[in-house]
Amino acid sequence: MTSDQDENRRLLCSMSLGYTAYHVWAIQARRERRYNIARFFEASSMVKRIRAERAFEALGEVGTTTENIRRALEGLEPETVATGPVTGTTPLSRDLMTRATRALAEQRDLTAEEIGDLGVCSNCGEMIEGDLPDVCAICGTVREGFIRFSAAESMGVFGPSTIMRRLEQTPATLRAIVEGLSDAQLAHRAVSHSLKELIGHLTDMDVVFRERAWLILETKNPRLPSAHPPSLARAKPYNQHRITDLLEAYQTSRQQTLNLLRGLTPAAWHRTGYHEIFGTIPLTHQGNWVIEHERGHLIEMAQIRHELLAHQSDPNPLKLPQSVIPEVLRGE
Ligand SMILES: [Zn+2]
Repeated sequence: MTSDQDENRRLLCSMSLGYTAYHVWAIQARRERRYNIARFFEASSMVKRIRAERAFEALGEVGTTTENIRRALEGLEPETVATGPVTGTTPLSRDLMTRATRALAEQRDLTAEEIGDLGVCSNCGEMIEGDLPDVCAICGTVREGFIRFSAAESMGVFGPSTIMRRLEQTPATLRAIVEGLSDAQLAHRAVSHSLKELIGHLTDMDVVFRERAWLILETKNPRLPSAHPPSLARAKPYNQHRITDLLEAYQTSRQQTLNLLRGLTPAAWHRTGYHEIFGTIPLTHQGNWVIEHERGHLIEMAQIRHELLAHQSDPNPLKLPQSVIPEVLRGE
């Protein structure tokens, strides 16, 4: 065994662990709505992943697909070794961590002024903040070979037609989620929030999204209100409303939103607003923001429906829940 191999084994272990750590921390940062810190963790996770991949290849563990299937069936078992620290190991990463710590101490995310766009060299894993260089200073990879973690795309990369289809689908999805459920079931708070609260919350969010979209479309690079929309914690009163009213309020709001957006040119979707956290962002950023938020809650609601129906006692016969959220393929 050569010392190169030892080093590659150490790197494979160290980088794989670092990849997982940053990946999961990014998910948590998004849950806490610390989107810029999440973006930094996502870039850090990519750094580790690329370096783990290089070490794995250097160990000679990547062959043709036929060979790799044989390896997989045999149960690939790389030697695990002690790694030393696996995170926070470069000057840029430590610097960003320091900035994030200061922001978090003030109960907030990093602002657009405090963190730039990030890029990670797809060949060697070098992380860059700000404008990308012509070539990677470490390995010479061209600018195009960098993976970007930009504020403008931090909410997702769906284009206008996918955003519109998702926005159009939700009213019917909501009707499918509540179909056949009793009023008690609709107001039931099993783990966190009831279906009624969640529908009311989605309406609140749609209103905020439409207001921001209107500002972007009708004024020149407006400053977008940075306050987060009414949170779920304020949605409890929706339990007192009738489900038909809640659905109608949602449908009416969404229809107004669709009316505002229907037929926009690509140029209109790229009009911008300034947001304290994200900086200058296009309308597509906000479109991705609203559909991602909505999809997260729709999945939660499909789960609640599934559990309500599974626990429904006789004499009502158990209806097996069907899949209620329509699939939209990425790239459609
Ligand atoms: Zn490089």
